[in-house]
Amino acid sequence: MSRYSRRRFLRQASTLAAAGALLPACSDSSDRAPTPGNAVVIGSGFAGSVAALRLAQAGIPTTVLERGQEWTVQGNDTFPSTTGLDHRATWTIPPSRVADGQGEAYAGLLENIGSPNVTAVCGACVGGGSLVYGGVLIQPPRAAFESVFPYLDYGAMAGTYYPRVIAEIGAAPIPDDVLASPTYRAHRRFIVDAGAAGMEVVKANASFDWDIIRREIAGEIPAAASVSDYAFGCNSNAKLSTDKNYLQRARASGFAEVRSLTEVEMIRQLDAGGYAVICRRLSAEGETLDRYELVADYLFLAAGSLNTGKLLLKSQQAGELRGGNDRVGQGWGTNGDELLAQRHPDVGGGPQGGPACIAAVDNTNPDYPVAFMHSPIPFGGTQLQLAMSVPDELGSLRYDPGRDALAIDWPDDTQTPSALARAASFQQLTAQTGGAPTPFISGTIWHPLGGAVMGDACSELGELHGYRNLFVIDGALLPGSAATVNPALTVAANAERIMEQLVPRVLHG
Ligand SMILES: Cc1cc2nc3c(=O)[nH]c(=O)nc-3n(C[C@H](O)[C@H](O)[C@H](O)COP(=O)(O)OP(=O)(O)OC[C@H]3O[C@@H](n4cnc5c(N)ncnc54)[C@H](O)[C@@H]3O)c2cc1C
Repeated sequence: MSRYSRRRFLRQASTLAAAGALLPACSDSSDRAPTPGNAVVIGSGFAGSVAALRLAQAGIPTTVLERGQEWTVQGNDTFPSTTGLDHRATWTIPPSRVADGQGEAYAGLLENIGSPNVTAVCGACVGGGSLVYGGVLIQPPRAAFESVFPYLDYGAMAGTYYPRVIAEIGAAPIPDDVLASPTYRAHRRFIVDAGAAGMEVVKANASFDWDIIRREIAGEIPAAASVSDYAFGCNSNAKLSTDKNYLQRARASGFAEVRSLTEVEMIRQLDAGGYAVICRRLSAEGETLDRYELVADYLFLAAGSLNTGKLLLKSQQAGELRGGNDRVGQGWGTNGDELLAQRHPDVGGGPQGGPACIAAVDNTNPDYPVAFMHSPIPFGGTQLQLAMSVPDELGSLRYDPGRDALAIDWPDDTQTPSALARAASFQQLTAQTGGAPTPFISGTIWHPLGGAVMGDACSELGELHGYRNLFVIDGALLPGSAATVNPALTVAANAERIMEQLVPRVLHG
């Protein structure tokens, strides 16, 4: 039973909002007693959406702070097209974050964080990565999972938490009639080629509404997902991002409020317990509207690997988080990702049907299994696969106060056994297809993971060592790898696992 009535939560929320709007950025919150049992979630991507729903369902007053905009499909030009990108595609706040200050500031969908040898990208909107991702929700194989997460119970993940996320989002594998339609030729070729190369073909769940895709294929609505134009949001509304399921249900409970265009700048530990969260409210053009503080008894960090890392490092360096934890920023990695392309003689010339939803696993090297996710593209002639293996090397994150920016220290991992295993598996694949490897985008990473790793910087429930009631619940917890597959399902399922155990603690103290 909740200790809170809905009316009491709404009164508290409006009082906090009113008080917050009047506070300067760095006012001292230590004289304000924290509201008992309230929760603040930073970030509204996969993990933040899970946390918001589970807290709100339990009647816990919850405020979700999200730096990006809320995007609602209102016609075919809601999102930028993959083939004609514009300012809506990129988070350029402040503009100095891109190309030496060129360009206008805009709260666009995707943030790029560059370093000399790797660029990592992540979502920046209500729903976070779930709007800009490929839609693949795939469960890791047991052996790889157990090597990466020896402290987690694979049976519980596979039996309870993975299915829970799939059901909540409404994801499903590609139906046979869609796979059989003409634009899905590249998928069909991949299934044949991977099978002939001795790989295990897996139909992954995709977080897309296949009935909407059927209507695209039938020509009833303009094509988007069915021609692989869905990377920056999907204009046909087929993508089942978490704003349409988890977050929508959290809001409907009456116990969760989502504040978009609200960037958390700092976290301050309070002497009386709890945390002050320093927020900047901004316009879509990046102008500061005001700053305020929120006080949280229970603080959930779900800003994604890169920005959870940045916030923790920045707040520790500023002396605002004083618990000390020198493992923050460590254990960061690229999920062992490598985007590999081949000129393929038989995938056809036009746009390829999407979304990504067919994987192939090569187990011939037992020490280094490699999974390929077939990644359809909006043009023909080329077949693209994302290869993933468990990396041998990990890097780290640093905060640069001069630039108020995150820096990534990344080792050269091009000749590691893991990288060589990817190359060998790809050769096995191209030997079947007669395709010629061809350069594609390199050095851009879609799956940044780690920086506040479980069993290292944090407990297995995500509690940051040295900081009571401060929980990391997102991709920062994963040690640079999601065990040879795309990470979102594991990020969300791990958040489900954690929230199941934490909600009673928040309710009962
Ligand atoms: C182009 C692309 C394609 C991808 N495709 C796939 C795929 O098909 N399958 C898959 O499994 N994974 C995919 N991923 C990866 C997947 O999106 C991430 O692993 C996942 O989103 C991580 O979830 P998260 O909860 O850790 O963080 P996120 O989903 O990134 O959410 C973090 C949220 O926090 C917000 N935030 C950050 N800083 C602040 C701040 N200071 N204040 C307030 N809010 C803040 C962000 O705006 C964002 O909304 C893809 C990623 C990209 C970029």
